Amino acid sequence: MNATHRSALVNFDSLLRIFTIPEGPDSTLTQIEEKLSGNLNEFLKEAIVAEEKPLSEIEHRFANAHIPEMPEFVSEHTEHLMDNLVAHSVHTAAPSFIGHMTSALPYYLMPLSKIMIALNQNLVKIETSKAFTPLERQVLGMMHNLVYQQDEPFYQRWMHSAQHSLGAFCSGGTIANITALWVARNKLFAPCEGFGGVTQDGMVAALRHYGFDDTAILVSSRGHYSLSKSADVLGIGRKNVIAIDTDEHNKLSIPALKLQLEELKQNNIRPLAVVGIAGTTETGNVDPLDEIAAVCQQHQIHFHVDAAWGGATLMSNQYRHLLKGIEQADSVTIDAHKQLYIPMGAGLVVFKNPNDMTSVEHHAAYILRKGSKDLGAHTLEGSRSGMAMLLYSSMHIISRPGYELLINQSIEKAHYFAKLIKDHPDFELVTEPELCLLTYRFVPAFVQQKLRVANLQEKQRINSLLNDFTIALQKRQRENGRSFVSRTTLNPHQYHQQSINVFRVVLANPLTTEAILDSIITEQQELGQEFGYFMDKLRCLCK
Ligand SMILES: *Cc1c(COP(=O)(O)O)cnc(C)c1O
Repeated sequence: MNATHRSALVNFDSLLRIFTIPEGPDSTLTQIEEKLSGNLNEFLKEAIVAEEKPLSEIEHRFANAHIPEMPEFVSEHTEHLMDNLVAHSVHTAAPSFIGHMTSALPYYLMPLSKIMIALNQNLVKIETSKAFTPLERQVLGMMHNLVYQQDEPFYQRWMHSAQHSLGAFCSGGTIANITALWVARNKLFAPCEGFGGVTQDGMVAALRHYGFDDTAILVSSRGHYSLSKSADVLGIGRKNVIAIDTDEHNKLSIPALKLQLEELKQNNIRPLAVVGIAGTTETGNVDPLDEIAAVCQQHQIHFHVDAAWGGATLMSNQYRHLLKGIEQADSVTIDAHKQLYIPMGAGLVVFKNPNDMTSVEHHAAYILRKGSKDLGAHTLEGSRSGMAMLLYSSMHIISRPGYELLINQSIEKAHYFAKLIKDHPDFELVTEPELCLLTYRFVPAFVQQKLRVANLQEKQRINSLLNDFTIALQKRQRENGRSFVSRTTLNPHQYHQQSINVFRVVLANPLTTEAILDSIITEQQELGQEFGYFMDKLRCLCK
């Protein structure tokens, strides 16, 4: 790359050094570590370049498919990483980065992660995790308590019971959802006289034995794509994830659910689970969980709640009522790496009934022996890191009331932003925030005026143009590098089933101020006016 590039020599002594002696006090790595621990935000702001590079240019830096034949010095490699990787990473912790569910992290997680990595425990079995296994069981107990609020004897009885698991800690919401539906499937097609269970005999034998033509998973049309993946890996089939219509607030429609269940019954299709969403990924709305619970109860169907994003709201005494009915779910998914402010790679699922996870129990001779407390007997994943420690620490350091403050300020900020958009003549709020997520679009005042009186055909023409405009504007703003909102496509009821492109914001970062939100709107408004092409076309359509 450059003339000053030195390289180390391959020999066993220098290899031993990387396992023992750390870098000197003025090495590049040490300096970086100091900056990281001193002021994380400053570090990220300095290390990441604001201006966007085309992806192709970045790919060019990662184009070599050969494993190096020459070792590099740690310091030089670190510089290489800073220039090629860190500099072009996405500043997800920036207070003006409000487009996704990844937010700033508390500083103490950096040194604590080092301890976790240094210990290198494997949670699959107690022989390689000792104290981490009880810790993870306690974390699952705490999260179970957050959802189900059982009494003290319940947790004393089940939390550390070798034959039971109150849930599973995993790498994210996807695995958590798969785990929940895996349990639902195995409970539905349980072993009995003349049948070894779906676990042993497979789906074909299960349907044949129980006399059903097929099975299905029901979820609103706002369901997360991880549910289709689940259906795929569990042998249920993606087409058997049935999308139920939503009402005008993006919530699952109960009459539509009942109708669908009736139709399935007539076709001899046995529903495997109904999934309620507590905080949809695109609009942040919560399904009527208590009503879904009643329907599931009546039809004896597993009720799963996908609260991957919204589950953290339960930490707030003020807002937990928004998820009422969640305590009636058979299983609940919560992502710790979303609103619980844990780094990427932390999700979990909890089950109301401590016996439920026995339906997926797996034993092996050399590990996961029967009667051991090995968490691996109930997890889809095998070897796993001690990630639960970070959630354990955050729940102690931040505490429930601390999380409540974080949740409350997020929701209140979303309401502030919604009002800002509603009061602005050139913007239109598309979905109201229920939690801390909302969607909107740039619609200049004269276009809004026209839309109020336009006929259906004119509306469709204007909305098509606005759809392209939204895409262009979101891209321009991202390339500008000052702020970031994401974009999605919705079919809101009020737009006569036409697909509408919208900006989507998630206001979870505690460092995002009202002033920043003001400036994001101003920036979008200014960028919008600069798009002569779209503004002219809109003027033409709105004559
Ligand atoms: C994020 C999310 C998921 C998937 O979680 P991952 O952690 O990305 O695997 C599932 N469901 C909902 C509602 C989500 O918001």
